[in-house]
Amino acid sequence: MAGISSTSKLPPIAPGQRYGRLVAIDSIEYDARSRMARWRFQCDCGREHFALTGNVRAGRTQSCGCLQNELSAQRETTHGMYGTPEYISWASMIQRCENQHKKNYPNYGGRGIAVCARWRAFEHFLADMGPRPSGTTLDRYPNKDGNYEPDNCRWATAKEQANNRRTRRWRRRPELTPHSRVKST
Ligand SMILES: [Zn+2]
Repeated sequence: MAGISSTSKLPPIAPGQRYGRLVAIDSIEYDARSRMARWRFQCDCGREHFALTGNVRAGRTQSCGCLQNELSAQRETTHGMYGTPEYISWASMIQRCENQHKKNYPNYGGRGIAVCARWRAFEHFLADMGPRPSGTTLDRYPNKDGNYEPDNCRWATAKEQANNRRTRRWRRRPELTPHSRVKST
């Protein structure tokens, strides 16, 4: 577990700063034993939450507890799908779009790529996408920069995903030639 020395390198907490579902409000006390301040946070679910700064800055606390409750509730209602390929794809999609501590977050959530409201529930995702064929992963198609939503996702092999990228480059290239630029103006 990360100690005080590693978390002290992270930027200090400031009012208005967001950590997962928590937004910092103000500092309420100093905990002498852990040498950390306790802050008051507003959680996205509407509840207030008090947490030690070290836990929040290290990413161990990201909600008032509602996130964990939702995840475990989902686990219980996924009809034995927990740990299946579809469930793993769904859970990692949520993580890379919403957990800023994940290393691929900058390429997804950090670029504004989001999971649609309907797909926050695994059951809906599974109903829309169907079973995941072996050798495929979740691909945003046709819009590589679009959100995760029913109209913009498919199960695709690495080769299919590479073909899609190549097609897009070919389509874009003619617009960049001087000839077509003259024609279009
Ligand atoms: Zn909450």
